[in-house]
Amino acid sequence: MEVETDNLSWMSQRIRGGEILKYMDGSRDFIAAADIPEKLRLARPPDGARLRGILAKSLAIQDLTLEETAALIQVTDPDHLALMRDTALKVKLKVYDNRIVTFAPLYLGNYCVNACAYCGFSRSNSDARRKVLNADELKKEIAVLAGQIGHKRLIAVYGEHPRNDVDYIVESLQTIYAFQVKTRRGVGSIRRVNVNAPPFSVEDLKKIHAAGIGTYQVFQETYHQPTYERMHPAETIKGNYLWRLYCMHRALESGMDDVGIGALFGLYDWRYELLGLVAHTQELERSLGIGCHTISFPRLVPALNSVIAPDWPYLVSDADFQRIILIIRLAVPYTGMIITAREKAAIRDAALAMGVTQMDASSKIAIGGYADCVSAQEKTKQQFILGDERSLDDLIRDLAARGYITSFCTAGYRCGRTGKCIMDLLRQGTEGKFCKLNAVLTFQEWLDDFASAETRRAAQPVLEQEIREIQAKMPSAYEQFRGYYERIKNGERDLYL
Ligand code: SAM
Ligand code: SF4
Repeated sequence: MEVETDNLSWMSQRIRGGEILKYMDGSRDFIAAADIPEKLRLARPPDGARLRGILAKSLAIQDLTLEETAALIQVTDPDHLALMRDTALKVKLKVYDNRIVTFAPLYLGNYCVNACAYCGFSRSNSDARRKVLNADELKKEIAVLAGQIGHKRLIAVYGEHPRNDVDYIVESLQTIYAFQVKTRRGVGSIRRVNVNAPPFSVEDLKKIHAAGIGTYQVFQETYHQPTYERMHPAETIKGNYLWRLYCMHRALESGMDDVGIGALFGLYDWRYELLGLVAHTQELERSLGIGCHTISFPRLVPALNSVIAPDWPYLVSDADFQRIILIIRLAVPYTGMIITAREKAAIRDAALAMGVTQMDASSKIAIGGYADCVSAQEKTKQQFILGDERSLDDLIRDLAARGYITSFCTAGYRCGRTGKCIMDLLRQGTEGKFCKLNAVLTFQEWLDDFASAETRRAAQPVLEQEIREIQAKMPSAYEQFRGYYERIKNGERDLYL
């Protein structure tokens, strides 16, 4: 796809240099200032005492320093790795208990003016079939997502193009939130839309914020600037490393409460990217007072006409991928961690024990893929190929068999428990109070409206255990909770505490 002449003038107005420089401390950006190569060079595997000291910080829900994170990267001793795994799970349980949040990706358009070397939506991929959903097509997608599958949370995904610019994003958010659909026993709707989109100016971000966004997600892809420049041609918008690096500063300044960062693992040395993610969240906390709400760690998967060769030296093995997840959990203990269906089911199941908190299911990543039932393996219509095709019903049953409760709670965001407020609650372990109650309410609602008989049976012991715990550990909240629970069972919907 050639860049049309109209697009050139649109592209030339995207980047506002002043909205990069104002956040920079002199001429060095925060990644350069973190001096990651030197931290990695000096790091040594910690002895038992130092390791226990580092892990005690994670357990106290304190961020690790870059030096401490680099030390964990050096650990190869199987006993020390086992201790790290054990601690990561404890941290997850302390902050998020046995809850897993589920969501679905919703791709709204695959026009893109960029030419990322690894992405099937790259403008250079002339085999991609391009489309942007109109309002009717979007409603058909929501009818399946909220009416048949039962999702309450989406991550809406957009390419960078005038056809899906900020006004389109705002309109699509309004359409999604307004749409209601009948379910088995009630009414279904999408209650939280997170957005994965390109970096915007503060002015545009304010418009997106006003439309009721959940988390604003932008992945840096790689924090290693020379690799970044290799992957993203200089004449494209995405070719501007600093515009992307400082987009979360702009997001927080625009009033957004929850921001999600990520690195595309496999582009450069995973150790460098890991320290980049930790440096990024620390920078946000230091300069804007709020760390990141979620961290994503997508791993490179094959895409149509991707120019990354199969022998690219930085592809990440399964064993290293697991270390990445483990170390993120320990280094940024309060953050939500998302593992998507790019990964195979076995990898995602193993990641549960290392502290992930969010998973997608029944995912379709073609534009219009839910209503059109596009196969997850259909290459020309989607960005890349999925590894886990489990339905939401299957995933929830598998989670229940492992003792996890699936939470469809979106209350925090609608009650103002976001941003710094939620961070503080998570650090103190207080957020769990609301989450535990709302997880049961929303899980029961989903079971009544969408679950297969087999999944309802598998979920029953988990549900009963949760209710017993609420009664025993939260007696003052139990009576109100019980009232809400009975109302849900009688068909009322969207009740939360
Ligand atoms: N266009 C926006 C952008 O680039 O920021 C957002 C949408 S993009 C479709 C979402 C993310 O998909 C990218 O940030 C990138 O990390 C990831 N991605 C792209 N190609 C991929 C691939 N081949 N394998 C795994 N993830 C990929
Ligand atoms: Fe476009 Fe995003 Fe794909 Fe890059 S990763 S080509 S910006 S959709």
